[in-house]
Amino acid sequence: MDNSKKEVILSGIRPTGRLHYGNYFGALRHFINLQEQGQVCYYFIADYHALTTISEREDFYRQTLEMLRTYVACGLDPNKSVIYRQSDLPCTAELTLLLGMITNIGFLERGTTYKDKMNKLVEDNDLEGNPLSYGLLGYPVLMAADILIVRADKVPVGDDQRQHVEMAIDIAQRFNYRFGETLKVPAAVSREALRLPGLDGAAKMGKTEHNTLDLLDDPQSVLKKIKGVQTTTDPLPLDTDSNDPDVIIPRMPTSLGVLYRLLSLLAPEDVYLDFLSKYRRGEKFYGTLKTTLAKYVSEFNAPIIERYNEPGNNDEFIISFLRENAKKVTPVALETVETCRQAMGIGHSIYRA
Ligand code: ATP
Ligand code: MG
Repeated sequence: MDNSKKEVILSGIRPTGRLHYGNYFGALRHFINLQEQGQVCYYFIADYHALTTISEREDFYRQTLEMLRTYVACGLDPNKSVIYRQSDLPCTAELTLLLGMITNIGFLERGTTYKDKMNKLVEDNDLEGNPLSYGLLGYPVLMAADILIVRADKVPVGDDQRQHVEMAIDIAQRFNYRFGETLKVPAAVSREALRLPGLDGAAKMGKTEHNTLDLLDDPQSVLKKIKGVQTTTDPLPLDTDSNDPDVIIPRMPTSLGVLYRLLSLLAPEDVYLDFLSKYRRGEKFYGTLKTTLAKYVSEFNAPIIERYNEPGNNDEFIISFLRENAKKVTPVALETVETCRQAMGIGHSIYRA
């Protein structure tokens, strides 16, 4: 591929638990496609970002390594993509500081993660002294720094992260307006970005929500989790002839929606269509729907679990590619930080020159 046509891709995942189907179909599968297209890919483990949630220090580093083992098991290749740990690129923190200087608090208070947590505190009448952290409020600035520091063109993320990418675009544009064209403004998240509901019927499957179907779940856990999905709600009339999952699924009760979404992603089309016509006819079929889906999920997980457990996919291997890849991303990132320092008028760092 002609190098000038290559796009720079960046995305990250927090080491806050095990990778789940939302992570895979919202983000990882795009990581792999873009890697295979030969784009310039930066994929990181967002350990700084996880500090807004993680409280078990002992598990943290282990969880980071295990997330990386799962990246590799899913098909990310440290020889094709630059896979690194966010904290191994500490100049991201410097860029966060610089960007923070031009970011209004009112703008950050509109961030959904912060707003949702704030609303919950108000609901529980627990707002005394605002216990939310500076890190949580500033999460979108750190994410903007992650993206802008490698001059990313595209940020493949799930629909839940759409707003954060828009905020990064906004911050980059504000910087360029104030200090001249300095930062690359990434593209907005594509309209097809997915948001997979949780197995508990919540609008989002999430590691910290504990409502996930995981890529490393063995067949027994898969069956147990899928059987546990609530299907006693009466089906709602679909009011459409369309079979498109994007049209159909929002019209279903959420817990059924997650089963159908997974079926549409994993099963052959005729199997999905067959279960859809059963839904339309109002038949009692949830038992077979669940066992059929569990079979496809376990088949999907099997090779990932196998690669996860390969002896070569061990801590030593991970630490060695982290070291190599941190060396690859650092010069790119430092150049951006230096350009921003220049643009803001503080000049180059003397010790780095
Ligand atoms: P946490 O609960 O710790 O925030 P998470 O499950 O939301 O974990 P993240 O590490 O925040 O996962 O997100 C990693 C990537 O996975 C992001 O691109 C995000 O958009 C995507 N993602 C997470 N959950 C879903 C989901 N339910 N549907 C689609 N994409 C998702
Ligand atoms: Mg998240």
